Amino acid sequence: MKKKVSMAVGGFDTGGGAGIESDIKAMESVGVHGVGAITAITSQNTLGIREILPVSPKFLASQLSAILEDFDVRTVKTGMILDADQMKVVSDLLYHKPMVVDPVIYAKDGTKLIGDLDAFKSILLTKARVVTPNVPEAEALSGEKIRSVEDSRRAAKKIHETYSVPLVVVKGGHLQGEEVVDVVYDGSSYLVLKFPRIEQRHTHGTGSVFASLMAALMAKGLDEYRALERASSLIKDAIYSGLEIGKGVGPVDPMA
Ligand code: PLP
Repeated sequence: MKKKVSMAVGGFDTGGGAGIESDIKAMESVGVHGVGAITAITSQNTLGIREILPVSPKFLASQLSAILEDFDVRTVKTGMILDADQMKVVSDLLYHKPMVVDPVIYAKDGTKLIGDLDAFKSILLTKARVVTPNVPEAEALSGEKIRSVEDSRRAAKKIHETYSVPLVVVKGGHLQGEEVVDVVYDGSSYLVLKFPRIEQRHTHGTGSVFASLMAALMAKGLDEYRALERASSLIKDAIYSGLEIGKGVGPVDPMA
């Protein structure tokens, strides 16, 4: 049997809630074979991140080459990429693949997951086909303060114009309000997606799963807009099914 292949590049979460494991689960949930290259091993659980052990750029390149030399990788999802050297490896080896870039800057517990934001902007962001920041990440990428949907629109346009990212998706979960409003900008028009807010404590890995669903759906041949629509619907199910599996903030369930 044949399956399309999508690749995740990011960190390993010992709790299985974010990073590579959630990426691969999300890809498999829509019938795509997920392969993964690891940038760092984290020791973490539902209470937070304790330590991060980076993988050397050389070994990251070795993982990417092993994957690329054997699989027909259709799309790539990037998550936690620690420093400029890792970013250069990812950019040099994957620039020709459609990349969904999840700008993992801070974890929910406040741990900083990107060492060099300027390098991220100049090396990786400029290669993205799609970027999926939440509000704090969109603020860091655009320099805009975001308090309203209007602010999200301004930030999305600025990210598009500054880094030439074809599709910018500013997720609205962090904004106040009964509805969650995601703002999408493609250089000519805005798409505003509204969803009823889901009350859920267990939301670890939401960003990872959403970007991985988009990459996997694009690997199946959906265009960016159809992938976005479908991923937005699937992420709601994953959040509804957030898992109470530890003492802290549990993960969303990509298999829901
Ligand atoms: N650990 C790893 C390896 C991640 O990739 C991420 C986010 O993508 C996190 C932790 C933080 O996830 P969250 O902010 O959803 O708790």
